[in-house]
Amino acid sequence: MKILITGGCGFIGSNLVRLLIEQKDCQVINVDKLTYAGNAASLADLADHPNYHFEYCDLAAPIETPTERPSHLPTFPPSHGDQKSLKQIFDLHQPDAVMHLAAESHVDRSIDGPGEFIQTNIVGTYHLLQAALAYWRSLPEAGGCEGVKVEKCEGEAGDKPSTFPPSNLPTKESFRFLHVSTDEVYGSLAPDAPGFSETTPYDPHSPYSASKAASDHLARAWGDTYGLPVLVTNCSNNYGPYQFPEKLIPVVILKCLRGETIPVYGKGESIRDWLYVEDHAEALYTVLTQGRVGETYNIGGNNEQNNLSLVKKICEIVGDELSRSVVSGDSAGPHTTQRLNHPTPKSLQDLITFVTDRPGHDMRYAIDARKIRDELGWEPKEDFESGFRKTVQWYLQNSEWWENILSGDYKLERLGDNR
Ligand code: NAD
Repeated sequence: MKILITGGCGFIGSNLVRLLIEQKDCQVINVDKLTYAGNAASLADLADHPNYHFEYCDLAAPIETPTERPSHLPTFPPSHGDQKSLKQIFDLHQPDAVMHLAAESHVDRSIDGPGEFIQTNIVGTYHLLQAALAYWRSLPEAGGCEGVKVEKCEGEAGDKPSTFPPSNLPTKESFRFLHVSTDEVYGSLAPDAPGFSETTPYDPHSPYSASKAASDHLARAWGDTYGLPVLVTNCSNNYGPYQFPEKLIPVVILKCLRGETIPVYGKGESIRDWLYVEDHAEALYTVLTQGRVGETYNIGGNNEQNNLSLVKKICEIVGDELSRSVVSGDSAGPHTTQRLNHPTPKSLQDLITFVTDRPGHDMRYAIDARKIRDELGWEPKEDFESGFRKTVQWYLQNSEWWENILSGDYKLERLGDNR
């Protein structure tokens, strides 16, 4: 199966690309603009894999215009041949499905500068839907090859009605467009209210969630109006390997490691549901391959935590992992607390500092994930303890990855030499 994924150099995208290539035997075309959040190093080990193709492209650009790769960006990974427009990328690669993850995704940045969020999340999604629609319309019906280039009619395409994944070439019936979104579109929940279900009305409060809500509506409209086979997922907060160090979990881990104060909004009372990123990637693959076209699936971790107890727990795990590495003689890397000699969970928790709350901060998000469980049999594998411990261990063992981000080196040409 050949999947065109957008935003594959981001946090969830890179974990998804890894799952698709290493475990699902898929071919991946990764379409990414390499913004500050896109890190080619997250997929460096797959750059030469025969099933991996990278295409540099800005979704906010018109679909017939190739976007120039700015000279300040690394030439690694190279695009697949010449620079192409979004339309050319579809025509060249002929994907069986699209998984759309590219977005501006950081709420604080959306408050400081909403323009990029409108461009990428709304205009970019519109462009992707238009390009996918044009491509989808060019595909043959399951029963024949009419209207398709001759070379696409070779083989057995069209012998029988196709289902997803297709047994051979994509057809109108087999094609899928999965739009990946967030639970933040539903707004804030009262402490005792049931979790968001797929029928909860939208009530976004930040520029980020409002732009994602708009993109969800566009995706569904392209399904309802033009018949594009669209599916939508709305997921809770993710954590795990390769998360950019501006988000809460890596911030806390790295502040612990560097012995710096750990900022917590307000009194740390906001509640979020947390899902390990590899569980999310598996859920996305499940929805793509088994979900019903036109449906929405909520994805959650059954793991509600208030921010303060979550941060304290991470301090505890980091302290625990660091003392283990001291006992076993492992080096935890050059980063390890220059300022704290022998960090303990308690001394790390003492780094917590309360800062002014974010404007419009939603109090609680929680997901009712019964639909995806009952209909598609998906459930998260990692629980709170195992998922966060794996995450802390990953950041301890991959200091080069995040140190390159903190120093800014991840955007330099020479990263390509480090594969
Ligand atoms: P991310 O910020 O880590 O990565 C975004 C990726 O999109 C980057 O590789 C970036 O270069 C790329 N991109 C941005 N603008 C682009 C453009 N104009 N053209 C092409 N590529 C562009 O994001 P993430 O945390 O991996 O989230 C991925 C998706 O999942 C988003 O749609 C987000 O809304 C959704 N989501 C995220 C979470 C979470 O907790 N991180 C939870 C639920 C849903």
